[in-house]
Amino acid sequence: MSFLKTPIEYLKGVGTQRAELLGKELQIFTFGDLLMHLPFRYVDRSKFYLVSEIQDTQVYVQIRGKIIKIDEAGVGKAKRLTAILRDQKGSDIELVWFQGIKWMKEWLKPGLDCVAFGKPGKFRETYNMVHPDLETAEKSMHSGGLQAVYPLTEKLKNRKIENRTLNQWMQHLLDHPSFHIPEILPERVIAENELIGRKEMFQQLHRPKDNVSCDKAVFRMKFEEFFLLQTRILSIKARRNQKLKGLVFGKVGPLFHEFYEKHLPFALTEAQKRVLREIRADMATGRQMNRLLQGDVGSGKTIVALLTALLAMDNGYQVSLMAPTEILAFQHYEGISALIRELPLEVALLTGSTSAGERKRIAAGLTDGSISMLIGTHALIEDAVQLKNQGLVIIDEQHRFGVQQRARLWQKSEIIPHVLVMTATPIPRTLAMTVYGDLDVSIIDELPGGRKPIKTIHRDASHREKVFDLMRKEITKGRQVYVVYPLIEESETLDYQDLSNGFDRIVEVFLRPHYQVDMLHGRMKPNEKDAVMERFKTGITNILVSTTVIEVGVNVPNATVMVIESAEKFGLAQLHQLRGRVGRGGEQSYCILLSSHKLSKQARQRLGAMVDTTNGFLIAEMDMKLRGPGDLEGTRQSGLEDLKMASIVLDGEILERARKAAQKLLDMDPGLQLPEHAALVQYFREKRQHKDWSRVS
Ligand code: ADP
Ligand code: MG
Repeated sequence: MSFLKTPIEYLKGVGTQRAELLGKELQIFTFGDLLMHLPFRYVDRSKFYLVSEIQDTQVYVQIRGKIIKIDEAGVGKAKRLTAILRDQKGSDIELVWFQGIKWMKEWLKPGLDCVAFGKPGKFRETYNMVHPDLETAEKSMHSGGLQAVYPLTEKLKNRKIENRTLNQWMQHLLDHPSFHIPEILPERVIAENELIGRKEMFQQLHRPKDNVSCDKAVFRMKFEEFFLLQTRILSIKARRNQKLKGLVFGKVGPLFHEFYEKHLPFALTEAQKRVLREIRADMATGRQMNRLLQGDVGSGKTIVALLTALLAMDNGYQVSLMAPTEILAFQHYEGISALIRELPLEVALLTGSTSAGERKRIAAGLTDGSISMLIGTHALIEDAVQLKNQGLVIIDEQHRFGVQQRARLWQKSEIIPHVLVMTATPIPRTLAMTVYGDLDVSIIDELPGGRKPIKTIHRDASHREKVFDLMRKEITKGRQVYVVYPLIEESETLDYQDLSNGFDRIVEVFLRPHYQVDMLHGRMKPNEKDAVMERFKTGITNILVSTTVIEVGVNVPNATVMVIESAEKFGLAQLHQLRGRVGRGGEQSYCILLSSHKLSKQARQRLGAMVDTTNGFLIAEMDMKLRGPGDLEGTRQSGLEDLKMASIVLDGEILERARKAAQKLLDMDPGLQLPEHAALVQYFREKRQHKDWSRVS
């Protein structure tokens, strides 16, 4: 058995019972698992604190002193042992134990010269330390330097498995006569990036010699994590490019030309033209296109998608366009049908509410090829529909597909269509490299001309009257207004009280028949929703009171005011999406964020960021920093969970370097077949097996 796979119970000082506990609490089963249990911080054990020097109660300290008094109090579960430790300047700190009292009592004696290590707390002017690591001063002299601090659980601490214990075990592991760590990174990568070796990395991570060595070990670890992840993602891409022949859309034909010259309702922005060139180049190479089109709300992705679709159809292929909601699918269907009504093309709409008869007709049209373009929600397109000759799949506003799921999309089809994913949520670069790491990225970074930046205002909800004034003024000018209430999970049984109260309040102020006010939420029937949207789109409704169903993609250029109620309850990305519903025409638009008076620091930062900038990429960066990447959409199954030490929020530079190194490696050896890459391949294989195995058990 290899050293790293040795069961943890065989490590000196562990044994079967503690091994079981380690497995349960920390998923540590083998020597290798223990080695991968990484410290989350280090403390300087060469420094001793005086009680009077304790400032930040969050930080670990060690204090040397004499035990002057030992007390036992309480009975049963409330039983506790306390000892007063007096430092060299005569100040006291109370040490407290709730568990392991019997054992401590035997060992603790008044007058004992010792060192207590732990997190200090404060209770009524008295400092204390609960369950400190305690050593005799004599023994502690040998442990100087930086010491690792490990994640632990309460259960482990209660069973006397403490930070000191883990440090001891790491010691045993690193000093074990058969201690052996194979290198997995190719030598060239190590040399070019000035990395330390893998074995040294573990030694320095767990038992650092000094700050410099510790930093080098942390850098190598982060680099390695990013490198492995990027190699995996980029090799999916490399394999795809190698194996899959893409359809060649060689010609720009009559459909594209006629539309471009006669029916394009406006001149394209430079950014739209550039992106279109990138797409055209992609589809002519003979490789399958997998491209992410990022563009802020209102940047005009739809027209780019349509022009791409026309290229496919010019080359004799069918196109499907998937939208995340029925409203959006319907809107695309209407918009696109109107744009191409002069062209000899049939477009069909397929959603959950399509009738059985219509569905049959569409199925027939798709099979015989008379329908050129299918627009719908993705669930439907994914499983049921058969197209005769699908050449392009466009996925709109889609950030719920991970790398693996996308791979499944093309694995299924016989002819592999080109794929264009459009997202209106700008994604921070580092996140895009991971979640969309297997895609090529195009960015529309310019809004169509004539747009005035949206004015964003944050107001206390008690100033609602003023907001009504603004709404009235805009409606008089012929504009329309959205009022949005937070209702995060529409499908669940939730309290719609806020929404309907808000609606009532508005109807009381904006009286019929002078004003038309409508309500929209996710629990309405699809045809009711459509009717409400239709009234708003055609300008009959002045005010639409709604939940976030209007969040994604809805386009009514005449709407100039977006009022967001309880704005503090929305995430940044969502606020930005909502704001993007206005400012779509030539008029000055407003976004009013109403919140309660008392706000958490985070909420205040979020709303402040909204007021300060309309740049979606800045907002996305901020969102990731405030919330952490784990909470962002689309991060599941993306491999982010493999990152134990590296952070895509904080370590962007290391990520860029690691990605470059991974790309370079794959350019040279796309199939990872060279002998010097065998260790890397072996690592991936074992990791996959390990994952499969853990799913079974
Ligand atoms: P999104 O990128 O959010 O999907 P849309 O494609 O819905 O944006 O476009 C937003 C609005 O801008 C639409 O009304 C569209 O017709 C308009 N638009 C798109 N491109 C241009 C352009 N180059 N010039 C003027 N208006 C444009
Ligand atoms: Mg759109």
